[in-house]
Amino acid sequence: MIPFVDLKAQYHSIQREIDATVAEILESSAFIKGPRLEQFEQAFAAACGTRHAVGTSSGTTALFLALKTLGVRQGDEVILPSHTFIATAEAVVQTGATVVLADIDPLTYLLDPASVARCLGERTRAILPVHLYGQMAPMEELLRVARSGPRDVVVVEDAAQAHVARQGDRIAGGVGVVGCFSFYPGKNLGAYGDAGAVTTNDPELASRIRKLVDHGRATKYEHDLVGYNYRLDTLQAAILSVKLRHLEDWTERRRSRAALYDRLLAEIPGVRVPGVGDGNRHVYHLYVIEVEEPEALRRHLGDRGIATGIHYPVPLHRQAALSTLDFRRDDLPHTERLARRILSLPMFPELTDAHVLQVVDAIRDHLSG
Ligand SMILES: *Cc1c(COP(=O)(O)O)cnc(C)c1O
Repeated sequence: MIPFVDLKAQYHSIQREIDATVAEILESSAFIKGPRLEQFEQAFAAACGTRHAVGTSSGTTALFLALKTLGVRQGDEVILPSHTFIATAEAVVQTGATVVLADIDPLTYLLDPASVARCLGERTRAILPVHLYGQMAPMEELLRVARSGPRDVVVVEDAAQAHVARQGDRIAGGVGVVGCFSFYPGKNLGAYGDAGAVTTNDPELASRIRKLVDHGRATKYEHDLVGYNYRLDTLQAAILSVKLRHLEDWTERRRSRAALYDRLLAEIPGVRVPGVGDGNRHVYHLYVIEVEEPEALRRHLGDRGIATGIHYPVPLHRQAALSTLDFRRDDLPHTERLARRILSLPMFPELTDAHVLQVVDAIRDHLSG
């Protein structure tokens, strides 16, 4: 059996550190805010090369808070890829703004600046690229498109799948005005429950978001803003601090397994391995291949005890949830085509070379048989 991810193997590899940290928090019984949360926020900001990070209750709330703090509201439009997880669009909808769906680059599967430029209009207030599967969308080009808009357009990064991904010397979460991260358990940096963060270099934005996550508090009993409870809890922050120390090592392991997949799969006709964008250090949250009939391959691998996934089989513009809203979209030929061709193979730091060989053998078997 080869699982899709193996969170238990990861826990066992750091069990002593985690258990000691959890015991310490339970013993202190300080579960909300406090120095353990601040330590994590500072360490995560440092890892992203930003001046500030604010913990949030999830990646979805991170996205919502980023847009909300930037003043995105009803009447505004936000441009994002149709090929992403629905949370990217949900955050926009919750601000009251209108979703505008753009197409992706057929080689990297990342938001296509040319499509974004076609979507840009009088009402565009933000561009929300997704660093999908673990590599950064082309930020220079997207920032250039943003500057070409008829009004002020901000770029917010959905970096939920791209912790410590880089593009040249820039780090994911530190290029747009705000970066949004998820620490969902299966993400490259995963909590033991729901968690997220926003990153920014702007002290004003950081301070507003810090208030919004905690009932708009100025002091314990004084509330400057109408906020909400979107806090990252202390136990998760402490666990994330432990795991953050291992993130570089885990990332290199992912990259090395991906390189092995790349090399072996390149020899199999009918398989397209992930394309890497210019200057990108891909952190392989997911290892996604393209084949003619992914469902048949998925069944074949499943029969051999190999778990796979599809991220994502239904693009946003075909989701029932969005059909009730009035959204705009560009033509989406690459999104449409890709949704019918992708398959995500097992990918996690504890995956072994032997596992990779086994997966590749099973794929070769199926495609040549
Ligand atoms: C996981 C994810 C989110 C949402 O994060 P949660 O922590 O699950 O709320 C948003 N965008 C993308 C691209 C994601 O992969």
